Amino acid sequence: MTEPIHIISLGAGVQSSTMALMAALGQITPMPAAAIFADTQDEPASVYTWLDWLEKRLPFPVHRVTRGKLSSAALVMRTRKSDGSKFTTTDIPFWTLSADNQLGRITHRSCTADYKIAPLLKLARKLGGIKRGQKTVGVVQWIGISVDEISRMKDSRDQWAEHRWPLVEKRMNRHDCLMWMERNGYPKPPRSACVYCPFHNDGEWARLRDFEPAEFEKAVQFEKAVQTSKGNTQNFHSTPFLHRSCKPLSEIDFSTEEERGQINMFNNECEGMCGV
Ligand code: SF4
Repeated sequence: MTEPIHIISLGAGVQSSTMALMAALGQITPMPAAAIFADTQDEPASVYTWLDWLEKRLPFPVHRVTRGKLSSAALVMRTRKSDGSKFTTTDIPFWTLSADNQLGRITHRSCTADYKIAPLLKLARKLGGIKRGQKTVGVVQWIGISVDEISRMKDSRDQWAEHRWPLVEKRMNRHDCLMWMERNGYPKPPRSACVYCPFHNDGEWARLRDFEPAEFEKAVQFEKAVQTSKGNTQNFHSTPFLHRSCKPLSEIDFSTEEERGQINMFNNECEGMCGV
């Protein structure tokens, strides 16, 4: 029986970048066959710059896969033949404000599954030479979850794939990852997530606004575009927002006590699996 190949699920944030560099130095074994970065095409510029830097330091290939631009897909509205109502097949977990001022949120999220997990698994299958209906493990997928996020650990749904969490094996938390990077003379990795992700906490929104204003502006414009496209539907009676206060992103003072209270739904960051 052939040995399974090892693949890194590379979100290009702190944890998965640390994991990839540790593998490159032989501190996690065996050497992975490849890393896969599933690109929503909506990460901040800092993530793409970081990825360019990172892949030059890895002895294995970094494959970038994409299903397309998530923000464009989210604006496409379809029409049901049965009753003519409008719907979208791309669900981002927006916060919502109803006509009678009730705050809510879209609990069904398809962006992670469709734009991150599916393209990554498609290539992993190919690299592992997985046959249709294969029930033996052909791919060991390394996931950059650290010990402070162990609630996110989940086994693979596919029999041909097995999940592995090297940072948990090493009892490393996010801070340990940052310390490891510093000790090894590497720069601090960025946070990875779509620029408009409604899971951002206020610290991340403020960082984006202050340090990557062009990316923050993309989020502001995306919020407006989503409100326009959803507003044209007959079956979407609430207004979508990116921030849980359901105020326009450009008008929020992220430094107030009230706003700072927003929890970080990701725990840390998207890291290829968006907190699932
Ligand atoms: S970062 Fe946020 S918006 Fe982007 S795919 Fe993940 S959950 Fe969806």
